Amino acid sequence: MKKISVIGAGTMGNGIAHVFAQSGFDVTLIDVQEAALERAVATISRNLDRLIKKERISEADKAATLKRIQTHTVLQDGVAEADLVVEAATERTDLKLRIFKDMDAAAPAHCILATNTSSISITQIAAATSRPDQVIGMHFMNPVPVMKLVEVIRGYATSDSTCSAVMELSKQLGKTPTEVNDYPGFVANRILMPMINEAIITLHEGVADVEAIDTVMKLGMAHPMGPLQLADFIGLDVCLSILRVLHEGLGNAKYAPCPLLVNMVAAGHLGVKSGQGFYLHTPGSKELIVSPYFQ
Ligand code: NAD
Repeated sequence: MKKISVIGAGTMGNGIAHVFAQSGFDVTLIDVQEAALERAVATISRNLDRLIKKERISEADKAATLKRIQTHTVLQDGVAEADLVVEAATERTDLKLRIFKDMDAAAPAHCILATNTSSISITQIAAATSRPDQVIGMHFMNPVPVMKLVEVIRGYATSDSTCSAVMELSKQLGKTPTEVNDYPGFVANRILMPMINEAIITLHEGVADVEAIDTVMKLGMAHPMGPLQLADFIGLDVCLSILRVLHEGLGNAKYAPCPLLVNMVAAGHLGVKSGQGFYLHTPGSKELIVSPYFQ
């Protein structure tokens, strides 16, 4: 595989484009919003600067990495020569089904169609295409350039050769792939999201405040980040979408999203991406300030 297309240039898409380009692949990054593409390239450039500062790459490596990334706003043009497409667009089933139908029509016959979805059924997405054996979940973790895991999710019809190609490719990126089956939330989010939801319920019921909840989990369980800070980092809208998939797909009331989470998303308080969630977030600042709503 040489040519990789990444659909969606948000939080995850820019990281996925970054790791492929840094590993020597030609990358086409596609988004419906030109502004998202500009932001993504600026983020990749900033993250490469950090690696230069840490003496992990040279200025020449940075220039070569950026040179390997092209951007596009039209999906059909961006996937026409791809060997693999990784879809990382907004977490909505209707949108992903449409994108996969379009990709199936526009990408070469040999191309593997992967999705970075956090929770939507790979089998359902694959059924929107004429090549379900070449559709697979390639679930990177945030931040992509830092996190080692790729959760590789086999849909009902995913072939052995598609699975082994994606496992091998993940290793070429310096990642550790782990194969799992296609059930709601897969493994990562089936375990992580109920914990985040429980932390929000704990806050909502007044058991403890934001800082106390995160401190207990950081210092008591040796988590690098508390669950409320992590929810801000992932995006509260993404957390809500995943919980809804778990709730609907597994049919158990224990997965019902906390009403506080539902309200925060309705208010547009989405965490890092909107500047406010459980904490206030200023670009470039690492200081943790609890949102005035929870002080
Ligand atoms: P995001 O909201 O930051 O970015 C989504 C991007 O998709 C936006 O730039 C949007 O303009 C673009 N988009 C929407 N419709 C499109 C279309 N038709 N064609 C091309 N681009 C389109 O979202 P994100 O957090 O990067 O999440 C992307 C995917 O990755 C989701 O499936 C999510 O579940 C998954 N994921 C997210 C995280 C996380 O921590 N945020 C972790 C793992 C997986």
